[in-house]
This record gives sequence, structure tokens and C-alpha cells, in this order.
Amino acid sequence: MSLLTLKDVHVTYGTGAAAVPAVRGVDLTLEAGQKLGVAGESGCGKSTLALALLRLLPPSARISGEILLDGEDVLTMKWGRLRAVRWAGASIVFQGAMHSLNAVRRIGDQIAEPLLVHGLATPAAARTRVGELLEHVGLPAARADAYPHELSGGQRQRVMIAMALACGPRLIVADEPTTALDVMIQAQILRLIEQLVAEDSISLLMISHDLAVLADTCDRLAVMYAGRVVEEGPAREVYDAAEHPYGRALSAAFPRIGDPAARRAPRGLPGDPPDPSALPSGCTFHPRCPVALEGCADAAPELREAGPSRRAACVHVVPVGSPS
Ligand code: SF4
Ligand code: MG
Repeated sequence: MSLLTLKDVHVTYGTGAAAVPAVRGVDLTLEAGQKLGVAGESGCGKSTLALALLRLLPPSARISGEILLDGEDVLTMKWGRLRAVRWAGASIVFQGAMHSLNAVRRIGDQIAEPLLVHGLATPAAARTRVGELLEHVGLPAARADAYPHELSGGQRQRVMIAMALACGPRLIVADEPTTALDVMIQAQILRLIEQLVAEDSISLLMISHDLAVLADTCDRLAVMYAGRVVEEGPAREVYDAAEHPYGRALSAAFPRIGDPAARRAPRGLPGDPPDPSALPSGCTFHPRCPVALEGCADAAPELREAGPSRRAACVHVVPVGSPS
């Protein structure tokens, strides 16, 4: 059984004529110990998808489909079970730790909170565990007494990671975990995440607009456009030779840092991402697509097999097994 399976997940904000589809039929799987990157421009639905995984969406959101975590559907789970699954089954690291941390509480108390709420430790044991967790993420245990404003951006993101690890989750969802940081610190935090998930055999679902960062960190990549997955496959293959024109444009826009062999001049993505409340007809990428065909405005291609463990949704993709 896969650790995480998404089946036909839809998320819509609002109702009636004002309803805005944010996620439109996503199927994905993540195996235990695997690292899956979800890429796409802002507004493509990737953060909505991350929040949906733990049912953290605002009340205006309606969600359908199945989200199976270890075979249990998060969407139909009773409230008490859901609380246990959050943090202990799966935890989430958000973008910009300054907004996620409480400014007036010491960070040690904030890291201890999930342990205490879940009854996993006594207050004394939680204090010891907080020290261990801080050292685990490369901070001195004594920093437990600090307030968020006393830490740098990178240190605060380390605190968020310590919090996410506190209850020993099997899955960490990281939404743009390094976006607010400068490049050097970003690289350090990425290496830290990689190291920790490897040490503890935690699965990672990492979300970013930066395909190069995901290609460096993850085993597999899914590229989202206008609420759908348009391409999925092994990370290096998708990054180096995307099947979908949008995947290619995204990869050209984000050259890898520090790899001279792969250095390419960045090229901006043409046009703007579509407004989710007024999506183009047919293949939603057609107004921006350099290789669009006449029929592309009429019909949206399904995701289909594009090679061993690769899928892409484009009319140019030759289905595996068909004569070329
Ligand atoms: Fe471009 Fe058509 Fe492929 Fe869409 S289906 S990505 S418009 S070629
Ligand atoms: Mg986002």
C-alpha cells in the first residue's frame, strides 16, 4: 500500500456562480520513504492541495475525492482521529516561519505543544525532547528560551522543521519551505530537510514554484497547471526533458544553481497563469503554448503514460506502445 494516495481530488472555493475551482481532479501517489515535488506557478492549486491533505482548508472550500494516508481517508475521518493524524501521521512546514510562529511565545514552548496536546510526553520529557529536536535541526538546545524575533529567518525555519518532526510523522508536507530565505540559507535548509527525512525514513511532499529546487531534492516531480497535474515522473527526467510544454517552460525558467554542466540561461515563462475563475477552454495552457495545435482550445488531453513511470497531458505525447 502507498503511504499517500490522492484519487480524483477536487477543491472549489465558494459556491454557485462565484465558485472558483482551485484543484481539478488530481491523482497522485507517494510511496513510503519517497520524496515527491509538486511544482507550478502561484495560483496553480499546489498550496490548496497541501492544505487539503490535512483538511486545513478554510470553511469556504469544498473538497471531494479521496486522500488516503496509510489507507485511511483523511476526508471522511472523524475529528478526533484527524487530530491524531495531524503532526503524528503527517505534519506541515509552511512558507515564511515568521507568520506561522507565535511572536509572543518562546520557541521551546511552541515545539513542545504538539507533544503535549497529543499526550506523547510529560512537560518534563517534552522539555528534554525539545532540546534534542533543536540539536537535531542544528540549533543549540538553549535556543528553546528564545522568542521568534530573536532568531534569523533560517533559524526560524529550522524551528518549524523541529516542530514538524516532534511527533515522529511518517510524512512531512513542506510548502515553499525556503522561499523567503536567501540562496545560501535556502541551500542549507534544503540539505537539512533531505538529511532528516533520509535519517528517519520520512516521506516528503514538497511544494515549490522552483522546479530546480525540487529536482535537486526530490525523487519524483509532479507539475501542476490550472489545478491539474499535467506531468509526472522521475525528478531528473522531468526536469531535464519534460514531455509537457509547460514543464519545459518551467524548467527553462529555473536553471539549477551550482551545476556548471546543467547551467542554462533563465528564460521567463511566456504570458501569465490563467485566472482560476475564468479558465481557458480545452487545454488550459493553450493561450501560452508555443506548440499548440488547432484542436487544443477544444479538448483537454488526459494524463497518459509517456514512458516508464511517466505521465503527461498533451496531444503531442505519444502513448507508450503506439506505433511511431
Ligand atoms: Fe500545448 Fe496543445 Fe499540448 Fe496543451 S495539449 S500543452 S495546448 S500542445
Ligand atoms: Mg502557495
